[in-house]
Amino acid sequence: MNLPDDILIVGLGMTGVATARFLSQMGKKITIVDEKPEQDLFASLKELEDIRFIGHFGSHRREDFLDHPLIIISPGVDSELPLLKEAREKGIKVIGEMELASRFIVEPIIAITGTNGKTTVTTIIGEMFKKAFGNIFVGGNIGDPLINYVLKGAKARALIAEVSSFQLETIETFRPQTSILLNITEDHLDRYRSFSDYKDAKYRIFENQQQEDYAILNKNLPDTDGIQAKRLFFSSKDEIKEGSFYQDGVMIVRLQGQEYRYERDASPLIGVHNTENLLVALLVAHIYGIEKDCIEEALKEFKGLPHRIEAVRRIDNILFFNDSKATNVDSTKRALESVEGNVVLIAGGKDKGGSYRALESQMKKVRALILIGDAKERIKAELGKYSETHLESDLSSAVKRALQIAKDGDVVLFSPMCSSFDMFKSYKDRGNQFRAMVESL
Ligand code: ADP
Repeated sequence: MNLPDDILIVGLGMTGVATARFLSQMGKKITIVDEKPEQDLFASLKELEDIRFIGHFGSHRREDFLDHPLIIISPGVDSELPLLKEAREKGIKVIGEMELASRFIVEPIIAITGTNGKTTVTTIIGEMFKKAFGNIFVGGNIGDPLINYVLKGAKARALIAEVSSFQLETIETFRPQTSILLNITEDHLDRYRSFSDYKDAKYRIFENQQQEDYAILNKNLPDTDGIQAKRLFFSSKDEIKEGSFYQDGVMIVRLQGQEYRYERDASPLIGVHNTENLLVALLVAHIYGIEKDCIEEALKEFKGLPHRIEAVRRIDNILFFNDSKATNVDSTKRALESVEGNVVLIAGGKDKGGSYRALESQMKKVRALILIGDAKERIKAELGKYSETHLESDLSSAVKRALQIAKDGDVVLFSPMCSSFDMFKSYKDRGNQFRAMVESL
């Protein structure tokens, strides 16, 4: 693939570093910019010690964006940045790292997107494929960027890639052999002008697929007729002719005239949302001809990821769950559906501008709502009338309050519905702090 000789990289995190190494290997002249000041980029810069590049850090300079024929952005960079818009208007090409990487990948890519469940599904599929084929790359929006695969010259049977809507905004030719869209619910309205823009970005995962490729779709998604690839559906409610579905405790895959059945309780993961996640993984595994015993072993062994409805501790008969990764309202709704008993719900964090009303149908389960962070007043205004509500100044007092309120047999669920950046470094930091607070009660 032909790339111009002079390339701008925007963003110097893990992805920017890998992109720079790759382009340098190709002998390109590289300029790297990042809004962070140099002292905050110390670790990344150290990794690039042996590479020649021009770096401009701190605030962005207009000329950097207008002087290079190709701009490559990291997943965390907003593709609607005014300087990027201006560059595009001048005919400069702006693509994401994933688009760049995919142009150098010949092995099949299985790409997973959706509002929720991406990491869980990517990981389970990865586990099944590792058992069957050994040599598999799992990455993308989680962990290893795809460009690292290209950089290392690796050769895997397939790449299992988590893909965010932001990454899909900057594709051109990206064509997964199998594209999966798990679900779309309200999220990121701080970044997208409307829900419809967000949906359009997600559907781009199918845009370059051809008839011989596969599109795996949640049965309840709208507007799927225009998709070129072979469409296979999954549903936790309805019977499906070609795809996968759940019925009476069994997960059923139907593919090319064959039927494969798996007991739902073969997996320790709880909740209807995880049934959906498993249905997708089973379907993909059968598309790629993985044997039933590999699949069953992976189902049994995968116990879930930290910070996703993670059981932390039982105190007397009160069970504490850490669901810090729940950064939107649907994930919290799914968590409430998944746990048994009355719930003391700790929520709140950085508000993204969406509505919290989608939780209304689950509020009868909520004994008390304990709210923290920037969003607490808004959540109270929308959901406060359904249960006893307390506003707390920080997570630690919220946890103590929860213990006072919870009764025998209750669940204390920390499922924030918001991102973490108002008070924490990340959802991981937030979940780790919650866990430590519960451990010390
Ligand atoms: P993502 O990578 O898309 O953020 P994760 O697997 O990390 O997804 O899960 C994020 C949150 O969403 C967790 O709180 C998890 O319990 C919840 N979740 C997982 N799968 C689903 C699903 N299929 N539908 C709705 N919520 C889900």
